[in-house]
Amino acid sequence: MSMSVSATPTGHTDGDPGSRYAVAVHGGAGRYGADQFSDAQKAAYHAALAEALAAARAVLEVDGTAVDAAEAAIVVLEDTPLFNAGRGAVLTHEGVAELDAAIMDGATLAAGSVAGVTTTRWPIRAARAVMEKSEHVMLQGAGADAFARAAGLEQVANSYFVTPERQRQLERARARGEAANISKFGTVGAVVRDRHGNLAAATSTGGLTNKRWGRVGDSPVIGAGTYADNASCAVSATGHGEYFIRATVARTICALVEMKGMALADAVRQVVHGKLVALGGEGGVIAVDAHGNIVLETNIAGMFRGWQREGEPPRTAIMADE
Ligand code: ASP
Repeated sequence: MSMSVSATPTGHTDGDPGSRYAVAVHGGAGRYGADQFSDAQKAAYHAALAEALAAARAVLEVDGTAVDAAEAAIVVLEDTPLFNAGRGAVLTHEGVAELDAAIMDGATLAAGSVAGVTTTRWPIRAARAVMEKSEHVMLQGAGADAFARAAGLEQVANSYFVTPERQRQLERARARGEAANISKFGTVGAVVRDRHGNLAAATSTGGLTNKRWGRVGDSPVIGAGTYADNASCAVSATGHGEYFIRATVARTICALVEMKGMALADAVRQVVHGKLVALGGEGGVIAVDAHGNIVLETNIAGMFRGWQREGEPPRTAIMADE
């Protein structure tokens, strides 16, 4: 799949507070069959993606920041049990939700991430707290939850995240003896360019069904599943994280834009259909550049996604050819 939404002239220069915002969200990519989802399921996915876009829009319409908008979109998707993040996240082999999240501010290159949190209701808020309230970039496990609690973030029992559907998925994966399920990814992500020309990226996930206790994927690894730099672009990934880490997907896309002067769509295609496929890594990315160009790309059958540029209607889609 290849989809890019180009910026149209705005009459403003980049960085002008009057220039237009652009936002894209994803809810994971997967080897979906065209008939995999009922009409009711499809409608629920479209509605959730639209709700995430609306949350970002509510921030951007009042001249809010890209970081605030990205966080707002992710919070909606973390609350939605349909996606693999927050409530409804996939489970480890032991049946526990271990959540990873990251956020990055393209204006300053400040970044924060958490891995393996088990009690923080909104992992993306924990990642943001790490970015803004600690001297670190990444915290993991019990220390990350303790930090989030100290930062005043809501804590819940791990059972809050666990849904019957994810328990069934885990039972099926265990019965098949799979190391980890890699056919359907439901990680959520957001990339934003605000009216000030600043970029941000955010990603949140439960990782892979039946993953090993302590496994960390690409989502919280800055440069792999998440990256933002005003000098190039903002990227959030979904897919088989081990490959996204090894191919440093998000940073490589930004580096191609920044250092080789490539158009965003070309840089995304080169990585998602080049290095990643060569390694065997399935998945996709969403990206936005400083001009408000949006690119949504996957190398498998589908990717839950939504996007909107200021002054244009919001769009949502599931299958690659939609
Ligand atoms: N990339 C995530 C991971 O490997 C999974 C996903 O995209 O759903 O942890």
